[in-house]
Amino acid sequence: MKLNELKLTNPYLKLSAECYDRVKPAPLTKPFLIHANEAVAEMLGIDKEELYTEEFVDFVNGAYQPEGSDTFAMCYAGHQFGFYVDRLGDGRAINIGTLNGLHMQLKGAGQTKYSRSGDGRAVLRSSIREYLMSEAMHGLGIETTRALALIGSEHSVFRQEWEKGAIVLRVSPSWVRFGTFEYFAHKKKLKELEALTDYAIAESYPHLIDVENAYASFFGEVVKRTARLMAEWQAVGFNHGVMNTDNMSIAGLTIDYGPYAFLDDYDAGYICNHTDQYGRYSFGNQPSIGEWNLRALMAALSPLIHTEKMEESMAGYWKIYKAHYTELMCRKMGFDEVIEGDLALIQHMLGTLQGLHIDYTLFFRTLSRYDGDRAAILKLGLYHQPMHDWLDDYDARLAQNSSTQEEREGKMLMSNPKYVLKNYMLQGAIDAAVEGTYALIDDLFRIARNPFDEHPEYERWAGVTPEVYKNNKLSCSS
Ligand code: AMP
Ligand code: MG
Ligand code: MG
Repeated sequence: MKLNELKLTNPYLKLSAECYDRVKPAPLTKPFLIHANEAVAEMLGIDKEELYTEEFVDFVNGAYQPEGSDTFAMCYAGHQFGFYVDRLGDGRAINIGTLNGLHMQLKGAGQTKYSRSGDGRAVLRSSIREYLMSEAMHGLGIETTRALALIGSEHSVFRQEWEKGAIVLRVSPSWVRFGTFEYFAHKKKLKELEALTDYAIAESYPHLIDVENAYASFFGEVVKRTARLMAEWQAVGFNHGVMNTDNMSIAGLTIDYGPYAFLDDYDAGYICNHTDQYGRYSFGNQPSIGEWNLRALMAALSPLIHTEKMEESMAGYWKIYKAHYTELMCRKMGFDEVIEGDLALIQHMLGTLQGLHIDYTLFFRTLSRYDGDRAAILKLGLYHQPMHDWLDDYDARLAQNSSTQEEREGKMLMSNPKYVLKNYMLQGAIDAAVEGTYALIDDLFRIARNPFDEHPEYERWAGVTPEVYKNNKLSCSS
C-alpha cells in the first residue's frame, strides 16, 4: 500500500484513559532518511517504493499522520535497579497506530506527559544502536521488537555534549511491559489492572481467551516466555544491560535496546552498563534477574490470581530455563540430542573459555569446523592444556553423537553465528554517521540480517575484537 492509503487502528486506546496520554509528535528539523527496513515494510503492508519518498521521511518524523493515526504515549511504572518508581511511561516514544497487528512507535519524537526531566529526544548514536540491534536479534532468531526506519536530522540535542537528534520508527506486536501491570497494581486500580490483563491476553496470548483460569495460565505463559528468552540471550552471549521491569516485555520479546553488548571474550561477570555499579544486570545475572522481575510481576498480579497458582508457575521457571538453555548449547556444540552430563560439559567449556580469555562467538564458529584437528581451536586461547582437557571430553561426547561430522558442521554453522554486532563495530558505524557517512550502517544491517552466512567482504568483523575495545562498558545516556 501507499502511505496515503494506510488506515491505522489504535487498539490500546480502548483501555481506560489512565493507560495512556494523547500527545502529538514534535518533528525534528531537517530530517532525512538514513535507513529503511524493507522486510518490516512488507510485514506492515507498505510498498517498498514508498520508503524512499519525502512523505515517508515526514511519516517517520511525525509530521505526516496517515488516516486513523491517533497518537499517544503509554503509561507504566517499574522497578529500576530494584527500586520501585511509581510512574515512568513512554517519555520519548510516541505511538502512532497499528498495522497488521504491529504497533508503531516513534522513538525520539518529543516530550510526553511521562518525560519527567527528559527532553523526549533520542540521539543518533543510540538510535543507530537500537535500529541495527533489533534487526540483528531477529536475524539470530530471537524474539524482539523490530524497526521500520531510522531518520537523522539537524536537530541539536544535548547530552554530555551537543549531538544530533534522530528517530527510530519501531514496531512490536506488544509494547506492554511488566511495569505496565505494576503501575495499576500499586495504585490499587483493580478494574484497570483486569482490563490490562484481558488486553495483554488478547494481544499476545489469544489462545487463552475464554479459557478457564485464563489469568493463571497467562502468568504461566509469561514465565515460560521469559525463561526461554533468558536462555536465548545466554546462549548467544547477549547482555541487555537494563533489565528494569519497565524494560521487560509481557510477550517475552527483547525490548529497549540501550547500553547492551555482545560478549567479546567470554566473561560471566561482564557488565555492559556503565551505571550498573554492582553488576545487578551483568551477563551471568540475567536469568536470576528474569526471575526477580517475574516476582515483581507476580506481586502486581496478586489481586487477580491466587499466589499459589503463580508459585506453581514460578517453580517451573528454572526448569524451563535450564532445559532450553541446555538444548540451545547442545545445538551449538553439534549434538543431536541432550543427554545426561551435557550440562556439566557446558560448564566445563564456559569455565575454560573464561580462563583462557576466548571470544565467545568465534569459539563456536571455530568449533563448528572441528574435525579432530585441534590447531584452530587451541590458537584461540592463552594456553593449550585446559582446552585439550575439554576437547578430550568433547571428543568422547561426539563419539555418542549419531550424525556424521559433515552433518554436524552444517547444523553448527546454522546455530553459531559468524557475525554478531559487537560494540566496536557499532561504534565504527556511529563515528562515520556522525561525520555524515552512512554506508557502514548498510553493511552492518546486511550481516545483522544474515549472521550465519559467510560474507567474505566483511571478514574483518568475524574475528576477535581489537584488544582496546574488548569488554568495554557503555553509558546509559542516549
Ligand atoms: P530506559 O532506561 O531507556 O528504559 O528509560 C527509562 C525511562 O526514562 C522511560 O520512561 C523512558 O521513556 C524515559 N526516558 C529516557 N530517556 C528519555 C528522554 N531523553 N526524554 C524523556 N524520557 C526519557
Ligand atoms: Mg525503557
Ligand atoms: Mg531505553
